[in-house]
This record gives sequence, structure tokens and C-alpha cells, in this order.
Amino acid sequence: MIKVCKFGGTSLASTENILKMAEIVKEDPSRRYVVVSAPGKRDGEDVKVTDMLIECSNQAKLGSCAKAFSGVAKRFEDIVKELNLSIDIRGILANVQSKIDELRGDYDYTVSRGEYLNAVIIAELLGYDFIDAKDFIKFDIEGEFSPEYTWDIATETLKNVKCAVVPGFYGSMPNKKIKTFSRGGSDVSGAIVARAVMADVYENFTDVDGVLSADPRIVKNPKPIRFISYRELRELAYMGASVLHADAIFPVRTANIPIHIKSTFMPNGEGTLIMPDDMYEEKIKTSELVTGIAGKKDYIVLLIQKSMMNSEKGFTRKILSVLERYGICFEHIPTGIDTMSIVIAKSEFNNNLEEVVSKIAIAVDPDSIKIMENIALIATVGHGMANKLGTAAKLFNAISSAQANVKLIDQGSSELNIIVGVSNEDFEKTIKAIYNEFKA
Ligand code: ASP
Repeated sequence: MIKVCKFGGTSLASTENILKMAEIVKEDPSRRYVVVSAPGKRDGEDVKVTDMLIECSNQAKLGSCAKAFSGVAKRFEDIVKELNLSIDIRGILANVQSKIDELRGDYDYTVSRGEYLNAVIIAELLGYDFIDAKDFIKFDIEGEFSPEYTWDIATETLKNVKCAVVPGFYGSMPNKKIKTFSRGGSDVSGAIVARAVMADVYENFTDVDGVLSADPRIVKNPKPIRFISYRELRELAYMGASVLHADAIFPVRTANIPIHIKSTFMPNGEGTLIMPDDMYEEKIKTSELVTGIAGKKDYIVLLIQKSMMNSEKGFTRKILSVLERYGICFEHIPTGIDTMSIVIAKSEFNNNLEEVVSKIAIAVDPDSIKIMENIALIATVGHGMANKLGTAAKLFNAISSAQANVKLIDQGSSELNIIVGVSNEDFEKTIKAIYNEFKA
């Protein structure tokens, strides 16, 4: 059995938390590979080490990072002292500091040092090897993560290492330059290590005991999700549920490795198990109808009407090519016989809504185009809904009892997600109503 564990910034923010992490790792010998974030916030006022390093990068561009780096150095020196370790942290920090200045604050090198330094310290604490991610997580010359370059080297690098700590968040490019993922990218590094060693499970330790079935800012104490499929997770994450870095899914999903999201502060809690779709098959039979609910505000719907639209060849293509020309992504296109609604996030428009609409009008000569603004989309997600009679009836009853007006419905072709559009003002009450119907 091989487990890869990734610990997030909050889980490693203080010496006390680092010791909790060490206890978790040591109690199970199959936890052989540990991927770490940089220390995060210890409390509300605190600053994440990664954010301090961004400031170092800014200062180094102007000459020297010394001022901002002193805060970073203090965090790591304190940790080493409190853990009673004998590594020469001062020397290591001095090297990092001068390299940041030498590279004139190169963003990727500088911000990745939080993970690097933390991994060096944690490897020493656990007595594990330190394996630098730059040696096996590979990006291409464009700076895109390159699975082709990575898998073989990663498997080769890790295969003979019994136990290792790997810094998250970064790798390197063909010219040896350090390259980071986007923020939160240690989740991706963990998934890559899990895939490289073909782990039985990728354990992602965070500060909550799993993924919640609704946004706790809207629903009070929502139930945690205990099991979820990759597809369900993707639907919920896409609709705004904050879970994992979006790119953390693909390395493990294609290798059928489950992800277990757990809490460092409640390691014996059940957490959330994210399972490959095949493994989830069995679970679906006993799972709840609805796994989770998520949503986002601020969409625009273009309602296009034209008699005989249905038989006009190329109608949709002409509209989509206007959107493509303007670099606009759409979310959904529910259609009727003579009508088509196009749902687009407001943020896709650059103050050019009118212009885009007029170009669509020229392209397809419709009878009318109406613009519906301030629309919120809410996704009710669950494989369990597909074969259960009456799910839609329950859903829409709940929404109408909450006095919310449904403006749009889309089930896509997945049968695991029913999307409703309501006005922005009805967003919260609709989510509450759906939650109370299916989850409370
Ligand atoms: N430390 C980085 C961040 O704050 C990466 C990570 O923690 O995953 O975004």
C-alpha cells in the first residue's frame, strides 16, 4: 500500500501544526511520500509565506529583497528552533536570499521558496529524503505543465526512494528555470507524485473535514460529502464549490487513484473520498439522491428568437463564430423550436455586450434578441438523481415554495446535474430551498 499525502498551508502554518502533520505521517507506514505547501496563516491577521515572498520578488526587482525576506527568514528560523532540528537554516536562508537578488526577484523562483524551505525542514523532521520537485515535475518551454516529460522521469526518480518529502507548487522548464503552478498548485504537485508512484490513494490534508454539500456562507452547517465521483466533483467545483485546485484532478483521475480529502486537525474524521467513476458505481446504489449544490451569480442570457430557426442550417454556428471572434466562452445553450438561449458569464464581456449582440443580429437576422441580466445559476449534482422518479418534481416544488422564479433549466447530457437559472436576488433562498429538500 502506498499513500501520498499533501499538506496545505494552514496544516503547516505553525510548529504545533507541523508536529500534528508528523504524527499523522508516522502513524501509518504507507504514508511514504509527503508533499508540502509553504506555511500559511496562523491566524486571521497573519500573512502567508507565499505572499511574503511575492513582496520579496517586488523588492528584489528594485534592488534587494532584504526587508521583506527578514520576515520569511524569521518564520523558518523559529520553526527550526522550536522543532529542535540541527540543520543550518541560516546558511540555507542566506543562499536563497542572495539567489533571489541575483535573479532580480524572478517571480517563480522567489515564490516557490516557501515550499522548498518547508520541505527541507520537514524532510529533516521526518527523517525522509528531500526530493526536489524541480528534478521531475517538468514544464515545457511555453511554461505549460508537460505530462509527457514528467511521468517517466517522475516514476524513475521516485521508484527507489522509500520515503520522501517533496515541495509542492513548482517544477522546472527545459532551460532549468523554476516554474510554479497557479496559486494553490501544491494540490497539483501531490496529484503528480501520486500518479508517478501509482499510489493507492492520494490523501489531501487540509483544515476542514472534507468537502461540504453547500456553501456554508449560505446554508448553516451544511452536511459534509463523504463520497463523490470525479465527475460530480468537477461539476460542483466548476460551479464555485471550493475544493481542490482544478488541475489536481486529471493526473490521478486517469490513473484511477482516489483522492481522500482529510483534516489535519481531525485526522480520524471521515473526510471526503473522491472516487473514480467505476469504483463509485457500487456507491451510487446506496448514495443519496443529491451529492451537493453549488452556484454562481452574474450571468447574462441572450434570448434569440426566429421563426423556422430549427430548419435553418448553420444558425448556431454563425452565432458561435461571433462569440469566438470576441473570445467569449458560453456556459449553456438550451434551445426550443424557434428559440435559443445562450448563457454567458458577465465577466466574459469587456463592456461590449451591445456590440456583440448587434453582431449576432447581423449574423443571423433574428426576429428578436432579448438580454436577461443578473442571472444566477445553481447546479444540483448527484449521480443518484438519474434513475429516481420524481427528482425534478421535488426540485422545482422546493424552488417554487421558496417563491423563487425559475428563468432557465438545463440538464445537459450528463444526467448528474440539473442547472436552474434564477435572478441574482433569488440565489441564496433557492440554494437553501434545494438544500432543505434534499439534504437537511
Ligand atoms: N503556497 C502556494 C499558495 O499559497 C501554493 C499552495 O499552497 O498550494 O498558493
